[in-house]
Amino acid sequence: MRPAFVQENISLAKYTSNRTGGTARFFAEPTTEEEVLALFAWINEEQLSWFPLGGGANTLVCSDGFDGVIIHLAMNSLEIQGTTVIAEAGLQWPVVGLKASKAGLTGLEFATVIPGSVGGAIYGNAGAYEQETKDSLVSVRYLDVETGDIVERSAEELDFRYRHSAFKEHNWLILSATFELKEDEQLDIDARIAEYRAHRESTQPLSQPSTGCVFKNPPGNFAGKLIEQAGLKGYRVGDAMVSDVHANFIVNLGEATAEDVKAVREHVKTTVFEQFEVQLEEENILLGE
Ligand SMILES: Cc1cc2nc3c(=O)[nH]c(=O)nc-3n(C[C@H](O)[C@H](O)[C@H](O)COP(=O)(O)OP(=O)(O)OC[C@H]3O[C@@H](n4cnc5c(N)ncnc54)[C@H](O)[C@@H]3O)c2cc1C
Repeated sequence: MRPAFVQENISLAKYTSNRTGGTARFFAEPTTEEEVLALFAWINEEQLSWFPLGGGANTLVCSDGFDGVIIHLAMNSLEIQGTTVIAEAGLQWPVVGLKASKAGLTGLEFATVIPGSVGGAIYGNAGAYEQETKDSLVSVRYLDVETGDIVERSAEELDFRYRHSAFKEHNWLILSATFELKEDEQLDIDARIAEYRAHRESTQPLSQPSTGCVFKNPPGNFAGKLIEQAGLKGYRVGDAMVSDVHANFIVNLGEATAEDVKAVREHVKTTVFEQFEVQLEEENILLGE
């Protein structure tokens, strides 16, 4: 039976940070693990496809939308016990960083400037300022959708690398995560957060919708630098444009579609390859391609 927390025909534009995207046939916001299990009982019964959407800060949704179930976890609790932080997957990643920092703990200051959810940060091993999500991660609790089991695994077992985790290779839904931080002077913690924020504000187009960096940095290089050197700042298809503030961002000037962003992305890849023989690899996920 379809759970009561599942809605129909929901526009995804407001659930993605670049404000593009069609409609989800079903949109589910489970609030507990029990509701997640009930949701999958129904998904399996109806043989529907599904996709977890966190903060939508790294996901582009095509104009045709998604003919399945978007799982937007409304599981947002946070527990801080001494130096241990346990966060549910739907919670905003910057909130985890801020609350841990306010509790006098260091290790997640970088999270305060990365939009999205705990689930999204773990899935892509989000990172900044030479730190990654995996660094303080102890374990992840997730639903193995193939077996129906809820499993807890240590971070070492989850194949974390640069913008990669085992979650990219399995049908697993992240439910919560445990981090181990260290105590530090509050003034030092606050100073690091202020420094990261100031750096972001001066180097990124934060007032325009985007999905952050579009391409991973190739080994020993920076995607943004290559794109800028290729003369692509300001390159535009429809309302999607290579930012003139940070060349690894594609911003939505108003009415851009995911297809426009994709067209800009392809042009950037081809041009950078032609000029520097470097193959850029996307960091963003394109849903409904
Ligand atoms: C202004 C800006 C700055 C950014 N800066 C950075 C940065 O410095 N470093 C960086 O790494 N990224 C950065 N990003 C990209 C983005 O913030 C990260 O990739 C972030 O971790 C995405 O989280 P999300 O919850 O929004 O993921 P979403 O876009 O919602 O999802 C991304 C992927 O994670 C999967 N996923 C989400 N939740 C779950 C779950 N519970 N279980 C299983 N899979 C799940 C989704 O299915 C999808 O495949 C930036 C983005 C913006 C807009």
